[in-house]
Amino acid sequence: MKKLLALAALALMTQPALAEAPAPRWSLAIHGGAGTLNPKQMTPEKRVQYEADLQKALDAGTAVLARGGDALDAVKAAVVVMEDSPLFNAGKGAVFTWEGTNELDAAIMDGRDRSAGAVAGVKTVRNPILLADTVRTQSEHVFLIGKGAEEFAVSKGFAVTPPDYFATPARREALERLKAEKLSALDVDHKFGTVGAVALDTKGNLAAATSTGGMTGKRWGRVGDAPLIGAGTYADNRACAVSATGWGEFFIRVGVAHEICARLRMAGAKAQAAADAVMADVARLGGDGGVILVTPEGEAIFSFNTTGMYRGRATSAGVNEVAIFGGAEKASQTPDH
Ligand code: ASP
Repeated sequence: MKKLLALAALALMTQPALAEAPAPRWSLAIHGGAGTLNPKQMTPEKRVQYEADLQKALDAGTAVLARGGDALDAVKAAVVVMEDSPLFNAGKGAVFTWEGTNELDAAIMDGRDRSAGAVAGVKTVRNPILLADTVRTQSEHVFLIGKGAEEFAVSKGFAVTPPDYFATPARREALERLKAEKLSALDVDHKFGTVGAVALDTKGNLAAATSTGGMTGKRWGRVGDAPLIGAGTYADNRACAVSATGWGEFFIRVGVAHEICARLRMAGAKAQAAADAVMADVARLGGDGGVILVTPEGEAIFSFNTTGMYRGRATSAGVNEVAIFGGAEKASQTPDH
């Protein structure tokens, strides 16, 4: 009897502690590119479309995390939505190369074991992020390119997508303008439309994914930072998960994604400060763009040195927002033009 009473007392004592246990935490951040976005050039209709597709991507990733799913599945789900949207420079709607083709790059990384997969220069895979993940899980390699990557895709059951699927009139017009007016990729695009997602799941695992068509008029097999592990994409459970967008050459030279994670892991830097400092370094070299990151503590952070970045974030604490221009502007606010 005494024993029973003691047990009951113990149960009562432990009750409040159980009730106070914090709810499992998750977080997600997405981007659809950064750049010189001019609010005056963004019609209300266009803005609504961008915000709707960003929200769709955010919702796809959120659904995975909220039901206790894996960070990896969440970032894939979010990126696939943006690859399928013609608005972003990834999958359908990718920019054109100098030769008039669409060549796609993507990378994904699991912060649990730092396993990673990447592809570059693929022309016939509808969702390059899924191929990158298959490189991660079903090959002994990290990075496959061009024809070889496409052969690997077919051997793993990926359908061959007709190259025309990726082409959109707006991106073709950008290439024509670039050639006719001898402009740089930055002049015609005024922004980078690469897409990416980073997530923390309820088990404490981090993941990062990035997918892009690169930069308009790219040639000679040019590959940017997006598929390079450590430059445009990185995830490490001990530090953070990062996905970048911007002028890839500068992000490669700075090793942006790994550099941010290294500052968190080794120097104990605060996430926002580390991201801002690394982006300032990119700017010092002459580059621009932005990053998204999540930390093991659940922070979901943006840092960009451009006038805007298509972005969104959602957390288990109830944050759910998409934004385009600077500051903490939210989708629900009135367009400023
Ligand atoms: N970072 C990409 C690249 O250089 C471009 C982008 O962010 O849109 O290929």
